[in-house]
Amino acid sequence: MSFGIDDLPVRDELRGKTPYGAPQLDVPVRLNTNENPYPLPEPLVERIAERVRDSARNLNRYPDRDAVELRTELARYLTKSSGHPVGVDNVWAANGSNEVIQQLLQTFGGPGRTAIGFEPSYSMHALIARSTGTGWISGPRGEDFTIDLAAAEKAIAEHRPDVVFVTTPNNPTGNAVPRETVLALYEAAQAAKPSMVIVDEAYVEFSHGASLLPLLEGRPNLVVSRTMSKAFGAAGLRLGYLAAHPAVVDAVQLVRLPYHLSAITQATALAALEHTDTLLGYVEQLKSERDRLVAELRATGYEVTASDANFIQFGRFEDSHTAWQRILDRGVLVRDNGVPGWLRVTAGTPAENDAFLDAVRELKKEQE
Ligand code: PMP
Repeated sequence: MSFGIDDLPVRDELRGKTPYGAPQLDVPVRLNTNENPYPLPEPLVERIAERVRDSARNLNRYPDRDAVELRTELARYLTKSSGHPVGVDNVWAANGSNEVIQQLLQTFGGPGRTAIGFEPSYSMHALIARSTGTGWISGPRGEDFTIDLAAAEKAIAEHRPDVVFVTTPNNPTGNAVPRETVLALYEAAQAAKPSMVIVDEAYVEFSHGASLLPLLEGRPNLVVSRTMSKAFGAAGLRLGYLAAHPAVVDAVQLVRLPYHLSAITQATALAALEHTDTLLGYVEQLKSERDRLVAELRATGYEVTASDANFIQFGRFEDSHTAWQRILDRGVLVRDNGVPGWLRVTAGTPAENDAFLDAVRELKKEQE
């Protein structure tokens, strides 16, 4: 027997656990991690090289600890895209929205405190809760994967969590949460505790509806979390950010590591933001491909959950893991999120989507 994790004096809550990990397999069509399939355009690649070269000249120095230039540009993007005025004091940035969420849980969760999410939802919320010593409460979701407001309000009143996660559009189901539901959950959370409500808008640029940023007005316990991994096509950059009351931005600074955001990351993100319009042009293409996938999946006889994201939950399968393997056998990697009967596919390029559609059509015939 080889020496393993459980032979080490690791924290009790980590014993027997497995790390987060979507398979990174080398197959022709990878539609499993909700990445943007379009590489960054060449002029942007050039601009990144230029900005990184400039910042390399100062790598003997620590980066701007407060990332002021970057936060200013992110605030400008949020203001322009939502029509809601967002200032540099309202914005905080970190290495991916996963780190944003970690900093929020380090600040507002932690030992003796709890967070709730309405599952199935983004599994990292629960995992980051665990790694920050925050108790996790699995809140309910309806049969159709919408949030059942009455049941959710009841869970909040009963558990009085310190943090409430609302993911909209939700991952892995794809559906957006109505504005009124988020408002009601915020009210319920304030009445119960009061607690912080984190609206995870990682996929909002792909949504048919608007961002919930305007709800920040007069709601200091609300946080909207965003990322450049999806709409900006920059998952490899690792840049996430939040918008909230300036007091929230001050609070997360109590837990952030000094100089957490490297000068290279800041320079690269600033270059990408200069090309926002081009990058968001790809979002439009992906939205129409997403809608085509929904229509084709339905026409083939699959059930589909209404999608406001760059991915689609489809089913139903008697055994989703076997279906996942059959699709993989045809060279297409989709995601089995462990939701019984369902799989998730990310909208790719038209050619990738065609390959996926061929695979699932064949699968359907096999199963008839
Ligand atoms: N939130 C949601 C809902 C996600 O699906 C993801 C990525 N899959 C993230 C946050 C984290 O993204 P990142 O750390 O790349 O910003």
